[in-house]
Amino acid sequence: MFLAFKPFSPILPVRATFIGTGEAFDERLPNTSVLIESKINLLLDCGYSVPRSLWSRNSGKDFLEAIYITHFHADHYFGLVPIITRMWESGRTKKLTLIGQKDLKERIGNMMALGYPGFLDRLKFKIAFKKASVRFRIGDLSIKTAQTQHSVKNLAVRVSDGKKSLSYSGDGVPTEESCALYESSDALVHDSFLLDKTIPGVHPCIRDVLTFSPFVKKLYLVHMQRDLRRNKRLLSKVTNGFANVHVPDAMDKIML
Ligand SMILES: [Zn+2]
Repeated sequence: MFLAFKPFSPILPVRATFIGTGEAFDERLPNTSVLIESKINLLLDCGYSVPRSLWSRNSGKDFLEAIYITHFHADHYFGLVPIITRMWESGRTKKLTLIGQKDLKERIGNMMALGYPGFLDRLKFKIAFKKASVRFRIGDLSIKTAQTQHSVKNLAVRVSDGKKSLSYSGDGVPTEESCALYESSDALVHDSFLLDKTIPGVHPCIRDVLTFSPFVKKLYLVHMQRDLRRNKRLLSKVTNGFANVHVPDAMDKIML
């Protein structure tokens, strides 16, 4: 009798999932956010419509080790209050690391005081605040950042486990340094707000972002203006001919 042959299925060291792919005010898509799962689980951005989507993916109190915030716009970090408070309610004791720009700690203090006064002092877990520098490590992941042009300071990020790398723009028009950050990434997730009109200093357009296609393995267009995002016919026409370009939905996996 032959033993059944079990095909070899390699487990990728890093897995990534879109928790949301929408812009700030899209009624259908959660705000853009990416979950990276490796030895540690890291969430990239946490806007106000992210928590429900994240909990539907994994509601475990200890699931996340760290959250990286690209910039201080509500659709990128106003989900932190419910995320932190639910961790408290569920009895979390494991440390949570929050990574972002220098006044992140003060902002979280203010947000928690407004949302759930007194709860920050009741947490049974430590929040470690880490300032996003040009290059740092968190767990098994090495992280690099670069500034884009946005209406507030935004730090795009490249996350690597030494084998695979994922870059995530947050918001903003590419700069020389962010282009260098993205180059040769296995996946690039990029703000692509309008079709062919860049909003100077705020958002790039799809036609500009498509020029990254030859320099990365996979390119994912996110944070699109909500009316444009609904026009699937137009989007498939624009991306037609770019085999490595995708317009993802929430809960889609990122192929690294
Ligand atoms: Zn923004």
